[in-house]
Amino acid sequence: MATATGTQPYNPYETAQRQFDHVADLLDLDQGTRALLRVPLREYQFSIPIRTDSGAVRVLRGFRVQHNDARGPSKGGIRFHPQETIDTVRALAMWMTWKCAVVDIPLGGAKGGVICDPHNLSAREQEGICRGWVRQVAKNVGPTIDVPAPDVMTTPQHMVWMMDEWETIHGHRGPGFITGKPVGMGGSLGRTEATGYGVVFTLREALAQLGLPIDKTKAAVQGFGNVSQYAIQLYSKMGGTVVSVSSWDQNEQTSYAFRRPDGVDAAELMKITDPFGGIDKKKAASLGYEVKPGEDWIAEDVDILLPAALENQVTGENAKRISPRVKIVAEGANGPTTPEADALLKDRGVFVIPDFLANAGGVTCSYFEQVQSNMNHYWTQDEVLGKLDVKMTHAFHDVAELAKCRKLYMRDAAYVIAVSRVAKACRDRGWV
Ligand code: NAD
Repeated sequence: MATATGTQPYNPYETAQRQFDHVADLLDLDQGTRALLRVPLREYQFSIPIRTDSGAVRVLRGFRVQHNDARGPSKGGIRFHPQETIDTVRALAMWMTWKCAVVDIPLGGAKGGVICDPHNLSAREQEGICRGWVRQVAKNVGPTIDVPAPDVMTTPQHMVWMMDEWETIHGHRGPGFITGKPVGMGGSLGRTEATGYGVVFTLREALAQLGLPIDKTKAAVQGFGNVSQYAIQLYSKMGGTVVSVSSWDQNEQTSYAFRRPDGVDAAELMKITDPFGGIDKKKAASLGYEVKPGEDWIAEDVDILLPAALENQVTGENAKRISPRVKIVAEGANGPTTPEADALLKDRGVFVIPDFLANAGGVTCSYFEQVQSNMNHYWTQDEVLGKLDVKMTHAFHDVAELAKCRKLYMRDAAYVIAVSRVAKACRDRGWV
């Protein structure tokens, strides 16, 4: 796991708990509710044995953490990552609870993962991992219990294998068990674009609130995966200019930033990007992009920073490199900002659209997919993206209004709304 200080291993769960403690204080939350919401309700940790292509047995470690389901079935993605840890999964599960609550969808929070690197696994081996993961938790997940989805390095194909395994075990069709499926196999139109578009819907509202015309703004983006690609597409379509985008180079095990002052072209870059979001350095250079060290994305002279890669990327150290021109940080990734960097941004008066609000478009559309799958009736793409815009815009204004009224930092306001809603559901159920 990357380090925040260079010496201490970064622990996102500690960050998530620190954020929660801070809001619990703001809300003057009672001791029982604090104790309940500070840790996950349920955790599953298990082994997944698979037969590799060479015929050997390999045993991988898998996780599912259900943080809270007071407001509805838990919901959250499954990540395949070589540095996955139980604490990362716990943090992400907790953030899912707040995310579903802040956009007011009737779901709780969960997250899953497998310690593995799909770069080094054949399709058959990946199928084995997907089916093995479902076998370990088949009785603890389902449309009315806990609904998984894709996340970092997991794809719609992985979701179909998981759905097939779950349906085989349970002996009936149940496409509402999992979301992020391909269209035509229970997937929703608009899901691919949803997270990136959702980030830009909230960004559009933030710019309007600050009185900044979108077509006069510039942005720098970290990451070029699912979230980033569609965020760049919509932001550019609305007239904004992305001057730099970075991505991870798997061969060199480092990141690069691809810079073009008159604006990067997402569609052009997608043609030279691998399925994991890695941009081909040589091809980008031949298309006229300046290739810089990956960490330089943060120092661009822009109005908007959009971290959309991984957690722990904007740190106390590199936040000092952020240009004074930056007015908005829209957190596309989960947990991209460490508490130290957050304090710096707060001091400087940067308008932060916190992760669990900014990137809630994914789970909102997953919820739409779940609803459609359960009905076995599917909406048009315009219908889905229209509903998404309404939900994200509404959620943004709920948070921005509270921030204004109570003079709160945006992250705090989003937390106050989310934690209050979950705490109320726990009280209504008589849990606390
Ligand atoms: P992805 O795997 O599709 O893309 C990740 C991108 O980040 C890739 O382009 C990769 O090259 C890049 N990257 C990795 N390490 C990097 C580094 N050190 N420097 C620069 N670039 C780096 O993932 P995604 O689905 O786009 O998710 C990105 C983030 O958004 C994650 O934090 C994820 O949890 C969060 N998120 C995703 C969704 C979703 O619907 N996909 C929803 C909500 C939140």
